[in-house]
Amino acid sequence: MGQAKQRGTKEQRVAQAQAKVDALRPEKLTCGSCKTGFTDFQSLDTRKMSGIHAAFGGICPSCGETVLAFSGEQEAVANAMIAWQDAMESEGKLGKQSRDGEHVSFDE
Ligand SMILES: [Zn+2]
Repeated sequence: MGQAKQRGTKEQRVAQAQAKVDALRPEKLTCGSCKTGFTDFQSLDTRKMSGIHAAFGGICPSCGETVLAFSGEQEAVANAMIAWQDAMESEGKLGKQSRDGEHVSFDE
C-alpha cells in the first residue's frame, strides 16, 4: 500500500461512493406484508446513519406498504430499522409516494 493517504478528486470520491451504493443495491425489494417483489425503489441518504453502508426504500405496488432495506453492520441495521419505524409512526409522512409516480424525498 503506502498510498493510503492519496485521495481522488471530489468527483472521483462521489463516483466511488455511488458505485459502492450501486454494488449494494439489491435487484429488488420484497414487501414484508404481501411478499410482492418490485424494482422501483430508490437509495436513501445514509450519511447521518453510522454503521449503515446503504439503504433503499420504496412503496409496494401491490399493497402500498413502505418497504425498506438497510445494508451495514448488523447492530446498526437493527437500530436503523427501529429508528425508522419510530419516525414512521410519529410523522407518517416519510417515504410517501404519490399515486402518479412522483417521488417525495425521504428528507426529514
Ligand atoms: Zn405489499
